[in-house]
Amino acid sequence: MDKLIITIAPTGNVPTKALNPNAVITNDEIVNDLIACQEEGASIAHLHVRDDNGLPTSDRNRFKDLLDKIQENKLNLITQLSTGARGGQNTLDYRRQMLDLNCEMASLSTGSSNFPTSINGNSPELIEALANDMAKNNIKPEIEVFDTAMIKNAVYLKKKGILKPDLHFNLVMNVPGSMAGTPRNLMFLIESLPQDATFTVSGIGKSQIDMLTLSILMGGHVRTGLEDVLSIDGRHASNVDLIRQVKTIAHALKREIASPEEARKILNL
Ligand code: MG
Repeated sequence: MDKLIITIAPTGNVPTKALNPNAVITNDEIVNDLIACQEEGASIAHLHVRDDNGLPTSDRNRFKDLLDKIQENKLNLITQLSTGARGGQNTLDYRRQMLDLNCEMASLSTGSSNFPTSINGNSPELIEALANDMAKNNIKPEIEVFDTAMIKNAVYLKKKGILKPDLHFNLVMNVPGSMAGTPRNLMFLIESLPQDATFTVSGIGKSQIDMLTLSILMGGHVRTGLEDVLSIDGRHASNVDLIRQVKTIAHALKREIASPEEARKILNL
């Protein structure tokens, strides 16, 4: 079994300091947290940025500033930028604007679903255009799966040559409005993946420990961070706390943790 790749998703679109004082909002706060997260064993950083008011944005300059700061601090984390539907406006030009920046991965949802108060809208044209931008700029997509059909569509896009092998998936469990985070649902998704695919799992909210544990058992990788879950045992979590929780589970299950360089090899970056 491959070593375990830990992705840290430090910020997302939803957390605020009111929800959890450990939330990291500004680029300086994010980078300071990433330094600690890399030390703790994370090898991929799934990145969102916020505007001056702390609201989600896909602004290219904000992403560039964040990537520059990551480089200035000589972090070795694999950088994965979000192209998600909640980063401000949901138009193609808005969502693709950061894809010419120097990053190794980006998120790509291969279908539409619901978030609690908005639509996770990803039209066929938008998916294809984002995938083409990523291919042109040598960015590996992480295919964000919120529902079963998104796996089937990714396989179809691979057949059409729009997505290049090997595919890497993130099975996003328990987003309100999308698939519930149950072991049965996760097993079904894992069994639906192409043979040569790699995968990671996000377990939103209360599903965090169950979903990540099952992924570690099944040879998958894991994503954690305040984007996905805000508390541990009813207390405010921090990004470092969440990585430590993953490491405790991985240790019990005898799964070693991958370094960023080992993660690059596993994902063929
Ligand atoms: Mg995200």
